[in-house]
Amino acid sequence: MVKGTRTIFKKLISSITALSVMICGFTFPAYAHNSDYFSGIYTGIITHQNLKFRIESSAITSFLTSSVYYSAYGWSNVSNSVGSIGIAIASPGMPSSGFYSVYGQWFTDGTLGETIPRDSSGNIVSMGSNWYSLSITMNTNSSSFSGADNATTAAKKTFTHEVGHALKLSHPAFGYSIPGHTYQGLPKAVMNQGLTMSSKPWISSTVVTHDISNLQTKWGS
Ligand SMILES: [Zn+2]
Ligand SMILES: [Zn+2]
Repeated sequence: MVKGTRTIFKKLISSITALSVMICGFTFPAYAHNSDYFSGIYTGIITHQNLKFRIESSAITSFLTSSVYYSAYGWSNVSNSVGSIGIAIASPGMPSSGFYSVYGQWFTDGTLGETIPRDSSGNIVSMGSNWYSLSITMNTNSSSFSGADNATTAAKKTFTHEVGHALKLSHPAFGYSIPGHTYQGLPKAVMNQGLTMSSKPWISSTVVTHDISNLQTKWGS
């Protein structure tokens, strides 16, 4: 879920690139699509190269535990350009600068999480803009996750997904003709929307090849 991205889905798939990855002697296509990530860069102090999150007390519940947030380490070092993701559980006396905050909020509309980018004046900006800062909000209403095969796995997927937005990845474009989008027009990706369930195997609970290919194409490998 993202704020300010309504128009991205109208964006045309203007070009498609296919990379090749060599692993263990086999070459297979690893697809990256510029419709699967946002334009723009970070203009503040914390950028895609040093992303650190401070998990505020509102985002910690019996359900949203520290292990949910540590799942975002799945993005660490999949690209040298991005490097390691920092996750710190807020504690008294801990500095608030140097981190982007993760808040908890009770949503009843099915929202699982939100990534909200801002400019240097604090105004919410579109996902395709340059960003000065951002925050993430997680839904503390556990019933929203109850449709998943495993609610904790779905919460981990949600936070990993939101951090993917913070890395400027978007929801993969729907299209049967897009290479690699083989599941009813979508690729297997953590950046797909929705709850993880066996009936929707394309909604990955973890960072997978398609996510990594887009990240490396956006920021460099
Ligand atoms: Zn999303
Ligand atoms: Zn794609």
